[in-house]
Amino acid sequence: MRLVIVGGGISGLSLAYALLENKDTALDVTVFEAEERAGGKIYTDKTEGFLCETGVNGFLDNKPKTLELIAKLSLSPLRSNDSARKRFIYSDKRLNLLPESPPAFFRSGLMSFAGKLRITLEPFIPKGTKHDESLADFARRRLGKEAYEKLIDPMASGIYAGDPETLSLKSCFPRIYELEQTYGSLIRAMFKLKKKTGKATAGPGGTLTSFLDGMQTLTNALKTFLRDALKVKSKAVSLEKTGKGYIIHLADGSKVEADVVVIAVPAYQAAVILRDFDKTLSQAISEIPYPPVAVVCTGYKRQKVQASLDGFGFLVPNREGRKILGTLFDSSIFPNRAPEDYVLLRTMVGGARAFSVANEEDNKLIDTVLSEISDIIGIKAEPEFIRIYRHERAIPQYTIGHQDRLEKIDEIVARHKGLYITGNAYRGIGVNDCIDNSYKLAERIFEEVI
Ligand SMILES: Cc1cc2nc3c(=O)[nH]c(=O)nc-3n(C[C@H](O)[C@H](O)[C@H](O)COP(=O)(O)OP(=O)(O)OC[C@H]3O[C@@H](n4cnc5c(N)ncnc54)[C@H](O)[C@@H]3O)c2cc1C
Repeated sequence: MRLVIVGGGISGLSLAYALLENKDTALDVTVFEAEERAGGKIYTDKTEGFLCETGVNGFLDNKPKTLELIAKLSLSPLRSNDSARKRFIYSDKRLNLLPESPPAFFRSGLMSFAGKLRITLEPFIPKGTKHDESLADFARRRLGKEAYEKLIDPMASGIYAGDPETLSLKSCFPRIYELEQTYGSLIRAMFKLKKKTGKATAGPGGTLTSFLDGMQTLTNALKTFLRDALKVKSKAVSLEKTGKGYIIHLADGSKVEADVVVIAVPAYQAAVILRDFDKTLSQAISEIPYPPVAVVCTGYKRQKVQASLDGFGFLVPNREGRKILGTLFDSSIFPNRAPEDYVLLRTMVGGARAFSVANEEDNKLIDTVLSEISDIIGIKAEPEFIRIYRHERAIPQYTIGHQDRLEKIDEIVARHKGLYITGNAYRGIGVNDCIDNSYKLAERIFEEVI
């Protein structure tokens, strides 16, 4: 039986691995990747002694499937340095340490007394009843305006580069939605969970993890495993149904027959491939928006940097009116990111609320980033090293209505036996979600079609 996966990002590559890891499978699997290089948003640029992650920076080590995959590939995960636990929020013109515990929160200067008091009222706020509520409405309702602006808004920027006014709580943060629905309050949920399990976190938990040579270590190992099953420079342009299965049309004019097809490309590309195949399906998928993000890496001589850079980095709430989403202190997070005596910063620009900044031409973008870094962390020195990595369409946004959209997509896809759609546009945007979903999908494929 011939199975074709269209898209060689971590979703497509890990699915191919999950299908092929038991060698006795009767499946003939091929992955078609449009670019010369597979890996999608995972690409590590090692240049002039710096190690720049052009997209994905790492994953949290709290999802068993990713760690299992890494162990099977005989890779050694690298946990972030201890100092990376210190995360900062830029607020009221200074960097504020993000408190890690309730007592630290009440001592911290990040929120006003009134803002803190409002949070303590959270257990008395009735549970939400809206079918699909925005992250902003949810946060203001449960935690108050100040906590929304200073804590939740930057979290939405850090993970989704998104606009909390349009992001759907239950699609973006399903665990938080479920905690409210189950316990009626997040604070009450934390106390009850602490009693039950000894752990009390509404957030994801876990330690940021990568590899000594960066995230591309993972996709390289998958490529080595797949060998000839991975075809690069093979862009799919359309899909056709035949009596028995499918024909995938490639950009070079060739056609490939398959019994089973998995589309694992970004939603806007899936919509193009499926346009003539099923217009309603293509339309539903095309509604998932992707704002642009630019990643700007700057390297400095350490002695010229007065700021301590002891920590993970900082996020900037939208209300501060700055032009960047945040900056990571990459050389403080992992070893090996900058040459001896240098530091490396990675600044994220753009997202759903700042298309125009992400799209600035190179010189203007560099000026913007340097001026923000100078204002926020006081680095006045010129960087010795600068790289810009642009993602014209970066991160899928799970906006209000996302879940209804998924139901519609699932219902249509179910009518086409042997067709599957996966990738980070649907049920989890992170690497951990992609790998977890690949294993689930492999199981479904084995059950349903093989
Ligand atoms: C700037 C940035 C930073 C991020 N940081 C993190 C992070 O630190 N941690 C984290 O967990 N997640 C992060 N993410 C999210 C990350 O994108 C996902 O976790 C994951 O890499 C998505 O993998 P994917 O395979 O679903 O999609 P992609 O990586 O987009 O892969 C899709 C693949 O399909 C190929 N393709 C497209 N069209 C076609 C076609 N017509 N035919 C054949 N192939 C095609 C593409 O070339 C690409 O290789 C980040 C994203 C961005 C943009």
